[in-house]
Amino acid sequence: MMSVASPSNPVSDSSSTPHSSSTNDGSPSTRWLVIGGGVMGLQVARDLIDRGQEVTIAEAAPTFGGLTSAWNLGDVIWDRFYHVTLLSDTKLRDLLTDLGLESQMDWVETKTGFYSGGQLISMSNTAEFLKFPPLNLIQKLRLGGTIFYASKIKNWRRLEKLSVEKWLRRWSGKGVFEKIWQPLLQAKLGEAYKQTSAAFIWAHTARMYKARRSGMKTEMFGYVPGGYATILDKWVGWLKERGAETLTSSPARQVRKLESGEFEVDFGDGRTQKFDNVVSTIASPVIADTVPQLSDEEKKRHRGIRYLGVVCASMLMKKPISEYYVTNITDTWVPLTAVIEMSTIVNPDKQLGGNHLVYLPKYLPDDHEGLNESDEDYKEKCLSTLEKMYDHFSRDQVLDFKIARAKYVAALATIDYSTRLPDIVTSVPGFYALNSAHIVKGNLNVNETITLGEEKFTEEVWPDYQRRVAK
Ligand SMILES: Cc1cc2nc3c(=O)[nH]c(=O)nc-3n(C[C@H](O)[C@H](O)[C@H](O)COP(=O)(O)OP(=O)(O)OC[C@H]3O[C@@H](n4cnc5c(N)ncnc54)[C@H](O)[C@@H]3O)c2cc1C
Repeated sequence: MMSVASPSNPVSDSSSTPHSSSTNDGSPSTRWLVIGGGVMGLQVARDLIDRGQEVTIAEAAPTFGGLTSAWNLGDVIWDRFYHVTLLSDTKLRDLLTDLGLESQMDWVETKTGFYSGGQLISMSNTAEFLKFPPLNLIQKLRLGGTIFYASKIKNWRRLEKLSVEKWLRRWSGKGVFEKIWQPLLQAKLGEAYKQTSAAFIWAHTARMYKARRSGMKTEMFGYVPGGYATILDKWVGWLKERGAETLTSSPARQVRKLESGEFEVDFGDGRTQKFDNVVSTIASPVIADTVPQLSDEEKKRHRGIRYLGVVCASMLMKKPISEYYVTNITDTWVPLTAVIEMSTIVNPDKQLGGNHLVYLPKYLPDDHEGLNESDEDYKEKCLSTLEKMYDHFSRDQVLDFKIARAKYVAALATIDYSTRLPDIVTSVPGFYALNSAHIVKGNLNVNETITLGEEKFTEEVWPDYQRRVAK
């Protein structure tokens, strides 16, 4: 990746380890601040602790976890946004093993539905795929062939140069594109699908394909009993036991490198604290806003990253609404990206007080006004849509209904995306910008986030630190 150190805006690296002591292996132990207490921040903290460093994690929200954090729905505590683990999520499963949670996981076979032409259609196995009414046989073969081909591609960089529309039209044909891909892309990305590269669909299909045990057989999804609240509790506890300082309700408002070589971090309420190194794991546009000493080119690159946001309702129900974990939607009048019925995976009796949990997400570009739609309007939209989609759905089955929003969820995989990324090792010595926007070989998920965190920490952050302290 290109270096963006700016000679016009040099930041001194004088006394880069003013507060150091030595760890067992002889490398100096200095004070690190990790900004952001989502899974990326927790992963970076874990890597630093493993290397004997003094770690503080600052999280803006009152609890850790970011997108994986939980809330109360009725008497149930579950994730604000739906999360499942795949059998192929090996890094995540290794982490869960370290935390003593992997052996408790429940693995469940899932079914997938399609809402198409006003009908709910099951598409969970090859036989159902072959019967799928919206497509003729040739179209089904082309669709199946595209997914299979995508799952085999290794050179994703080539795909990054092509628009997803062009690539899908080429491999699936006009009919399949217009009946299936276009509505799905539009539901997931809105009009931003037009700027999205083919690497997006490659990453998506490759992950889903991996989830299936073989070929087009059934999918196995897993969860830890108690959901991410259990994982976060153990993970943060693990970090604290090893000496990490954990700050919640502590948004890093400004990070400034001082003449002394230390960083002064302003938490916005009159509180400031000093550190020797800082790793920021938060969304790129916010990194640009909080670190004025980054070069103009670095700020431009961070601000140039477009994100997808999400509005996502959680609905606790007395009864299930379908047998599908995901219902994909190709009818364009439906204002939702999909219907996610979590309780087809998560055991309703053991985990949800005998109730059922449905998520109703709508993904939108980060500047879309729909992200600010009022709770009442989004709720009404969701309930009236479900009344039209499911004959048996009735509002009095809804026990609790809450809406979560996030502006910065996933960086949009635009054409040539990876060539425009800002560097992780920045022009401000000791300040590292390592966030999920650096995922270029997959789509956003926890396994990919911690894999990237570990890889980039080991390959870029730690070697740069060692170079600096060896000076
Ligand atoms: C609807 C939805 C469904 C998903 N489904 C799945 C799934 O099924 N399986 C799966 O594996 N993954 C899933 N994911 C993805 C998963 O949640 C992400 O991969 C992961 O949570 C990303 O973690 P992160 O740390 O990079 O980002 P975040 O979770 O966004 O963490 C960033 C943190 O930084 C904090 N922060 C922001 N600004 C500041 C500041 N100035 N100072 C201090 N802190 C700050 C934020 O509050 C936040 O806690 C899903 C995500 C969503 C939204």
